Order: sequence, then structure tokens, then C-alpha cells
Amino acid sequence: MMIADQNLVKKMNKRRLLQEVIHHSPISRANLSKTTGLNKSTVSAQIQELVDEKFIFEIGQGQSSGGRRPVMLMFNKQAGYAIGVDIGVGDMIVLLTDLDGSIVSEHYFDLNQSSPDETIELLLKTIQQVIDKMPGSPYGLIGIGICVPGLVNRSEQIVLTPNSHWDNIELKKIVEDAFQVPVTIENEANAGAYGENIYGAAKAYNNFIYVSVSTGIGLGLVLDNELYKGIHGFSGEMGHMTIDFNGPKCNCGNRGCWELYASEKAFRQSLPAAWNDAEIEARYKQNDVELFTALENFGHYLGIGLVNITNTFDPEAIILRNPLIESNPFVLNAVKNTLSSRMNIRFEAECAFLPSSLGKNAPALGACSMMIGRFINGLTT
Ligand SMILES: [Zn+2]
Repeated sequence: MMIADQNLVKKMNKRRLLQEVIHHSPISRANLSKTTGLNKSTVSAQIQELVDEKFIFEIGQGQSSGGRRPVMLMFNKQAGYAIGVDIGVGDMIVLLTDLDGSIVSEHYFDLNQSSPDETIELLLKTIQQVIDKMPGSPYGLIGIGICVPGLVNRSEQIVLTPNSHWDNIELKKIVEDAFQVPVTIENEANAGAYGENIYGAAKAYNNFIYVSVSTGIGLGLVLDNELYKGIHGFSGEMGHMTIDFNGPKCNCGNRGCWELYASEKAFRQSLPAAWNDAEIEARYKQNDVELFTALENFGHYLGIGLVNITNTFDPEAIILRNPLIESNPFVLNAVKNTLSSRMNIRFEAECAFLPSSLGKNAPALGACSMMIGRFINGLTT
């Protein structure tokens, strides 16, 4: 065998062993040999490298059927940290997680009509503060994942943000230059889908659609366990599918787009202007007819688009990300009523409709997990 091939095999084995320890800690060397099919001397040599590199550490002793009790191996999830950022239309979330995706610190900002320049200044300042307070670790900050509500191309450039103004801002370069760590820019719905798949409501699914409902509507498509991005990276813009071909004009250039009816913005515009969050909450508690009619319509309009999506993709699950839907089964029930009245029963019975379990942190956690995945893969490639 050529030396280059031997090195490749060695790296692949090492990656496989690390993944096994990440997903099955605590585990003994003997069990690793059994689950991977690698011989004991290979396991021993590769694990020693991973211990020396501080990705794995040894703990006490596990159970054994007799004889010497084995030393158990643990993934060192504090070997490094990732930052995930979700820049929304009106707010921003900055999370620091360990390599297991557990949140170490979280920061929430109301962007209050801030310009992108002001937001970038706040972002850079916040990241620096997070780094300054980050616990000590062998690898420090391993990367920064940032998501935005708009089109991001395959080169991670922001091409179009219809509801904010980030078009053509070189955010990746700005953040890379400031912190000298790997930075990725991702569409918000793609990052949210990724987060729910790794840590949240979509853990058990290989084919699912994540629907982010806020100022607009964005979709993250996970098909056969892969995030489907399209040729240019622009897939999932189903907020702009036509629901009414004679409908009002949308910022995107189309007419009667789904998000003009079923976004949270559209729902809020359907309420009397004087109703603020406190008023809505009070009316919710009083079972106010006008509010519940508006919630029913919101769920109905969501359902109309979801019929199209379910018919197109035949997914195992649809995960809905919106605080009203997560806190309020009424909207999801209205969605399901529309689906069951308009769909073949076969689909309805086989597709799960679930609220997001990560809530507002889903995209920022997804951005962290993208960086963690790249870091772990990069170690052994
Ligand atoms: Zn549109």
C-alpha cells in the first residue's frame, strides 16, 4: 500500500473513532474495537493520539464481566467553543456553545431599526466580549457561524435580504478579519433546520422541512439527511410561492406570495393597530373571539402553503418555528384542520407537524453546530 493511502486510512479510522466516542461516551477501547470492527492495536494507537490532542479523556473504570475493569473514554466537549449568531430583521442572538452544543453564554439584542453598520459594530463588540469571558480550553474559539434572513450564495455572500438591508455586505470577510477564525454565513432557515436536526425536534428524521415563520417565511429542506441548498444556495424560498395570483405585490417582485398572508408580520397586520403584545396576551387569556379568529386565519393560511409543500416533498415531518405556534397549540391545530380538509388522508397520517423545540435559538445553535461539524471533520482530514 502507498504511504499516502495508509495515511488516508489512518485519518479515516481516527475520525470514525472520534465520532464513536462523541456519540457513545463513555465507551471502552474494547467496545470501540467491537463497534467499529477495527483491531485493538489500531484503536489503542489512534485513541492515544486523540487523548494526547485533548479530544478524549479517560475516566475511572467501567463495568466488566470479570478480570480487569476497563478505562472508559469520554469526549472532551470543552476542548473548544463555537459562536453562533442569528441576525434577524429586528433582533440578534449571539450564543457561545461547547463542542457538544451546550449553551455557555447567550446574548439577545433588539436591533431597533439599526443599520447594518451599527449592527456589525454591536456584533464585533459582543463577539469580543464573549471571547474575553470564554473558559480556557486547548483549542479556544473554533469558529463563528452567522445566519441571516435572506439569500446566501455558495460562496457565502449575502445576495438578497428582502426584509432587511444586508445585500452585498462582505460579512464573512469582516468577521474573519476581526477574529482570525473560520467564519461561515448561512441562510437562517437552513441553519435552523440544521440545529433542529442535530439537537432538537428533528433529531429522529432524515427527511423533513423546517419552516421559519417570522417577518417572512423561509424553509430549510433536509432531504435524505442532507441540507438541500439548490445549485446557487437559494432553495427554500417558498415564502414567495404564489397563493393568490391576483394578490398584492410583494417586495420580491411576485404577487400574492404566501408570506404576505401567513407570516407573523401578516398576522400582526391583521390585528387592530392598537394591540400590543400585552393586549394580545390579555385577550388570549380571556378567549377573545376577535383574537382567536385571527389566530385561526393565521393557522389556515399557514396550512394552505403547507399543503403545497407536503404534496411536493412528501416529508416525514414539518417543523414550524414561530413563538406563537410554539406557545399555543391552537394555531397548530388550525394548521392541521386545513391540511386534513385539503389533503389525501394518506399524507396527513404519515407526516408529523411539530413546533420547533429549540425555539428562537434554533438558527444560532444550528450555526454553532455547523462550525463544530467542520472543526471535528477538519481535525482528521
Ligand atoms: Zn414574494
